[in-house]
Amino acid sequence: MSGFDSIDPCTGEVIWQGEAGDVGSAVARARAAGKGWAMAPLAERVAIVQAFKVVVTERAEAFARLIATETGKPFWETKTEVASVAAKVDISIAAQAERAGSRSSEIGGIRQALRHKPHGVLAVLGPYNFPAHLPNGHIVPALLAGNTIVFKPSELTPAVADFMADCWAAAGLPGGVLEIVHGGGETGRALAAADIDGLLFTGSAGVGAALARQFAETPGKILALEMGGNNPLIVWDVAPEALDAAAVLIVQSAYLSAGQRCTCARRLIVRDGTQGPLLDRVSGLIDRLIVGAPFDAPAPFMGPVIANHAADGLIAGAAALVASGAHAIRPLLRPRDDRPFLTPALYDVTGAAGLPDSEMFGPLLQMVRVADWDAAIAAANATRFGLAAGLIGGDAALYDRFWAASRAGVVNWNRPTNGAASNAPFGGIGLSGNHRPSAYYAADYAAWPVASLEADAPEGSITTGLRA
Ligand code: NAD
Repeated sequence: MSGFDSIDPCTGEVIWQGEAGDVGSAVARARAAGKGWAMAPLAERVAIVQAFKVVVTERAEAFARLIATETGKPFWETKTEVASVAAKVDISIAAQAERAGSRSSEIGGIRQALRHKPHGVLAVLGPYNFPAHLPNGHIVPALLAGNTIVFKPSELTPAVADFMADCWAAAGLPGGVLEIVHGGGETGRALAAADIDGLLFTGSAGVGAALARQFAETPGKILALEMGGNNPLIVWDVAPEALDAAAVLIVQSAYLSAGQRCTCARRLIVRDGTQGPLLDRVSGLIDRLIVGAPFDAPAPFMGPVIANHAADGLIAGAAALVASGAHAIRPLLRPRDDRPFLTPALYDVTGAAGLPDSEMFGPLLQMVRVADWDAAIAAANATRFGLAAGLIGGDAALYDRFWAASRAGVVNWNRPTNGAASNAPFGGIGLSGNHRPSAYYAADYAAWPVASLEADAPEGSITTGLRA
């Protein structure tokens, strides 16, 4: 890929054109800027990060419009993404102080200190689904820690990355501290192989695994992988009066952002024989969800998926489910062949043969009927991923059992699977991550700890084992 375009998924219009960047020179500029940035007092870095928050807040409307145009996500939703970008600043400052700050103590007359150092030049690889919030979740903590950054955004959302870079420049970030390199997978691979000190990745499990292989020869470099999921949502023992709310939670879990959230529910697990009233409500809601362009009136619940190739893949995936024996309760439909709008889909896959344990990154929910609770837990955990898991219904005792048995980094009860607290760590196990969770714990991978024993003047004595 050399020259490439970014396309508005709703209209097919080109909204950005550019060239794949030069990785080597971007890394060199970040390296050159590194010393000054790392040696600057923390307060200076904090001030610039806070100025970034002010700029983002001032430009929020234009920022949200651009994200909506480039991704097709509803405008109401991209406003919340911009709010998250701004909110990340205070959260990261607090997390850095708490988890990667400096402290000293004296034990037995010996002075001890704990401080943290930046890695140096960190690469950040971003996904398209939250093109601002997710890279920002790596960038802000990494800058606070004193790293310089080479950010390669998704090739599907370069305009949003350029907008963010402008905000940083307006906030007074010195040149070279944040470099943007555009390009696709090849550019990402080249950046991972360049003279960097670590890489912070949010994206698919396949690419994350390829990066882990690439980094196998350099275990000394930090590699943080935030990847996808094949997330289960169990619905169990829901009181009749709570069925409407349960249906809402299922729909939000599966179809927010057109199913393009890493934490979206992919598999709905229900007790066989009890699902009828619940499915009536879920289907009723599905039929009412508005799928449309970001600025439509009335506002859509969800937009298209990111691009035609993504819609093609999802339609093929749904056809494969049906060929395996799945039955459509609401089929995945594509109202316009030339654009990637899809309707929210629900398939009963109970008994289907050879279902893939893969992330279908779109508005497609697979229902599995099971006989009892043990089978529900077994179905929930029957995945190599481990990002999000949810329980709707039951009581505190059942939730305790669910929590204890769940193999996931986000475990929710009577809440959507895709809700996550911004002041908590965020990450998964298995194919979902490499135990370097982001969000509040991003401070941990942005710096390395140095433990010191210290005295103002040489102090020492040998009390045993010396000849007289
Ligand atoms: P992707 O893996 O296709 O791309 C992510 C980034 O990696 C892009 O910048 C891309 O250009 C780059 N890339 C692609 N191939 C590469 C290679 N061989 N070497 C280096 N870089 C390469 O992901 P996507 O489709 O943009 O995003 C959707 C995925 O991200 C989903 O799987 C979703 O679950 C996941 N995701 C995870 C989280 C999380 O926090 N765990 C959050 C959001 C999205």
